[in-house]
Amino acid sequence: MVDLKTQYEKIQAKLDQQVIDVIRSGAFINGPAVKQFQQDLETYLGVKHVIPCANGTDALQIALMALDLEPGDEVIVPAFTYVASAEVIALLRLKPIMVDVDPHTFNVTAAIVEAALTPRTKAIIPVHLFGQSCDMAPILELAAKHNLWVVEDNAQAIGARYTFPDGQVKSTGALGHIGCTSFYPSKNLGAYGDGGAMYTNDDELAAKLRMIANHGQERRYYHDSIGVNSRLDSIQAAILGIKLQHLDTYCTARQAAAHYYDQALAGIAELITPAREASSTHVFHQYTLRVTNGRRDELQAFLQAHGVPSMIYYPVPLYEQGAYRDQAANGVTFLPVTDTLCKEVISLPMHSEMDDNTLAYICAQVKAFF
Ligand SMILES: *Cc1c(COP(=O)(O)O)cnc(C)c1O
Repeated sequence: MVDLKTQYEKIQAKLDQQVIDVIRSGAFINGPAVKQFQQDLETYLGVKHVIPCANGTDALQIALMALDLEPGDEVIVPAFTYVASAEVIALLRLKPIMVDVDPHTFNVTAAIVEAALTPRTKAIIPVHLFGQSCDMAPILELAAKHNLWVVEDNAQAIGARYTFPDGQVKSTGALGHIGCTSFYPSKNLGAYGDGGAMYTNDDELAAKLRMIANHGQERRYYHDSIGVNSRLDSIQAAILGIKLQHLDTYCTARQAAAHYYDQALAGIAELITPAREASSTHVFHQYTLRVTNGRRDELQAFLQAHGVPSMIYYPVPLYEQGAYRDQAANGVTFLPVTDTLCKEVISLPMHSEMDDNTLAYICAQVKAFF
């Protein structure tokens, strides 16, 4: 599904040197490499504050902690996403309100969110699924109208850019109040271990996020709020700093692979290739097809038998997961699009090092199946 080895080999000399430099410096925690990466990422994203942390799930949790919500407050989240997006809501004793997604883009829309609003709704977590932004302008407008926080789950879409109706272009994650991302190794900007970050343009929120991520202290040993310990370590920051210089190239390579898949698989009636949000670039964290004839699992078995890996993101709607059935999103037990997608989606290999031979082989196998 990914090829981290080839990607590494192309920048090996620089990366190895950075890692050795950190080890020799002894500055493993909050060293200069962390500060440098933070600044580089702020510049890249065009955002005022980046607050690095230990992983993407922590980023979401700390973001919600910074909003001073009350137990039972409702947070709207898609049911078709990775569990982390909803997990942090439940963990903080807030109420995840699971909503459906658009069948073409797999993302939530303003209309879907609006239909789920109640007087207790306090925040929305739009997930920029598989690498493209939700259509954020109408979502932000809705949020402003109802005084809602917007925490973007940008774990899969770092590098994507959203164009507002007035032509303004911004990075995903820098659109709402707080953006959260993950540097899990297979993400578009992946570390060689865990990592994550929050971003915001709001000075007050930035100070709060930084404080919560650091045991609720601004001054060492003076704890003004209950926090957590969530840090990006210096070795990971040094690695990410190098890889950030290549992120746009990686995204372009993913887009080229997606274009190849699109062309090669266009004629198959039982397959739907991924739609593009008109307002967003797509950085293809995943290339996800829909198999509409009920033979998705058969296709996966066929591909596996012919040496082609594939993954189902995601096989089970969140409201059907054991952990969430209870509070099942405020009584939500079935969402038709999410239900259908969980049965139809299949993701093909997608990374920055795809070559035409590999793509041709994968597409030939898909075609052979149909
Ligand atoms: C990967 C991911 C996360 C969590 O990131 P971790 O670094 O693994 O904690 C959250 N949301 C989405 C949509 C993700 O894909």
